[in-house]
Amino acid sequence: MRGANALYESHRLILPGIRDRATATCQGCRYYALILGREENKPACLATLNLYLTGERRVPVQLRAEDFIWLAGKEILARAVQKARQGSQACGLYCRKE
Ligand code: SF4
Repeated sequence: MRGANALYESHRLILPGIRDRATATCQGCRYYALILGREENKPACLATLNLYLTGERRVPVQLRAEDFIWLAGKEILARAVQKARQGSQACGLYCRKE
């Protein structure tokens, strides 16, 4: 029956507040931070650390890779770098920067 309605495919209902979430990217998220390495800098998602996710510590704009490794280890650092997706749609934990 979907094909019978000519307007169905071309019209979408967007609820209030949903548009911001749908167009949000990691770069606008409060958990997005730049990790400073020895040779290169990479964006990472600090929501992978409970310390930042719970608000126990303020999310910094940038963090040295050694400090991150000291806090959580190399595996978590790799996961945090992999999770932050530059330019693509934000995840469900998205929280707009203030
Ligand atoms: S992965 Fe989610 S929580 Fe992490 S920076 Fe992107 S939107 Fe924010």
